Amino acid sequence: MQWRPLSPEEEAVIVHKGTERPFTGKFVGHHEDGTYTCRRCGAKLFDSSAKFESGCGWPSFDTALPGVVREQPDADGRRVEIVCAACGGHLGHVFRGEGFTDRDTRHCVNSVSLDFAPRQQVGTAYFAGGCFWGVEHLLQQQAGVLSVTSGYMGGQTKSPTYPDVCTGLTGHAETVKVEFDPSRVSYEALAKLFFEIHDPTQADGQGPDLGNQYRSVVFVLDAEQRRIAQQLILMLERKGLDVVTQVVDAGEFFPAEDYHQDYYVRTGKQPYCHMRVKRFD
Ligand SMILES: [Zn+2]
Repeated sequence: MQWRPLSPEEEAVIVHKGTERPFTGKFVGHHEDGTYTCRRCGAKLFDSSAKFESGCGWPSFDTALPGVVREQPDADGRRVEIVCAACGGHLGHVFRGEGFTDRDTRHCVNSVSLDFAPRQQVGTAYFAGGCFWGVEHLLQQQAGVLSVTSGYMGGQTKSPTYPDVCTGLTGHAETVKVEFDPSRVSYEALAKLFFEIHDPTQADGQGPDLGNQYRSVVFVLDAEQRRIAQQLILMLERKGLDVVTQVVDAGEFFPAEDYHQDYYVRTGKQPYCHMRVKRFD
């Protein structure tokens, strides 16, 4: 456990069990979605969903995350002190029977004992552009992309295997699922990249891979993704490209077998089927 160095003000509360003045802490009236953590050791302590306005002047939570806050008799002989179970740092006190919320509990916590980690928003995109090994490999290198998973979408067969899909009879396309951090990369940027790492003018195949399982599709999750995909196709058509990419509502995604994931990273080979061609300005 890596303990963070404390300022004198933090030390007065966390180590010497002081109390910050009411209505002065940075987390009074703070209402973001995320997790409050121990200022000293970083342990996750309270979820933002447990925070409520008690009017007492300190951040109030009606429950802690399981097992991470320890209660002990306060030195004053009356109150119940709460400390971080991991590092023993002083947090504040817990009061029961006040009737503020259904849980009837108020963890009254000093702001200086806490840090806050906003909940990460994760975006999802689905693209099919030929053999998923290459599409996955090239999208994975984009900053802001959290994970890329190879799989199947767009057909009728439930939980298809790779040999099933290779027959071309399942209706599925080799598809990648991209999870990304929207604060670092936009859906539009990913969709542009998708159109540059495969040939959107080749029907029912990609490079040497022929068959409808290699067709070009943007599987969209909402109207905004549809609008962006259609707009990018229009831009390419204005440049004279005869785009065959379909824009289709996303269906169920079936992850491919493990041996297809991270294929080029694991094998050290280079993609034979995909490379980036700049198509947007
Ligand atoms: Zn701690």
